[in-house]
Amino acid sequence: MRFATMGSGSKGNATLVDENDSALLVDCGLSYSRVRSLASERNYDLDKLDGIFVTHEHSDHIGGVKNLSRGLKIPVYATSGTIAASGNRFDDVYELKEIGLDKNITLGPFEITPVIVPHDAQEPCQFIITARFKRLGILTDLGHVTAYVRKMYGTLDALVIEFNHDLDMLQASDYRQILQRRISGPYGHLSNDQAEEFLGGINYQTMSHLVAAHLSEKTNSPSIVLACLDRVVPSTVNTYVATQVDFSPWFVISG
Ligand SMILES: [Zn+2]
Ligand SMILES: [Zn+2]
Repeated sequence: MRFATMGSGSKGNATLVDENDSALLVDCGLSYSRVRSLASERNYDLDKLDGIFVTHEHSDHIGGVKNLSRGLKIPVYATSGTIAASGNRFDDVYELKEIGLDKNITLGPFEITPVIVPHDAQEPCQFIITARFKRLGILTDLGHVTAYVRKMYGTLDALVIEFNHDLDMLQASDYRQILQRRISGPYGHLSNDQAEEFLGGINYQTMSHLVAAHLSEKTNSPSIVLACLDRVVPSTVNTYVATQVDFSPWFVISG
């Protein structure tokens, strides 16, 4: 299994996960044309995609879902709460498949486990994706780390984790108080400190790649995030800080 982020941040998220001739996308907050141009730059065949898994209805996660689903004729997987809250943004998708938070989904070589997270959306979840006994965790858009999240994401082969904001930068920003409180609140986004604390408690024995994601361009800086990673992630793990504009390298999770 290998994965890459096609862009990550408050303006749009999409994570590509690939295993031989099959692939899936987690979220598509980038436009269909942007996804197509990024894929063609990398010579990547989007026809490999078998489905789009949507974490929640915020536009940085679903903005491009409808057109991508229709363009490639692939199904969209989301919880009933996400589907309800997405309203007409999911009208006319190629196929809509409702997922439950208590059940794994099998798609080609992938087994996808939805994990409930605390975030200010209708029924948000994040995903752990397994293929050939390798496990990739994707964990963004959560206001705090619950005991359940700690349990589910405690031992993985690779992890994409939210480093949304630096609390001092958020408080010094020109964001209104109410927005600052929303972002830093228990149903907002993970701060650098929260992500670092979580990473201090996980098992790195099997982990090969760790990607810091969903950085705010206004209230965070890659250099601060890198310093957090340096403090807490062992040097045996390859680390990367995802950006809004870059299609990351492929991260190969090998046996
Ligand atoms: Zn988001
Ligand atoms: Zn969100």
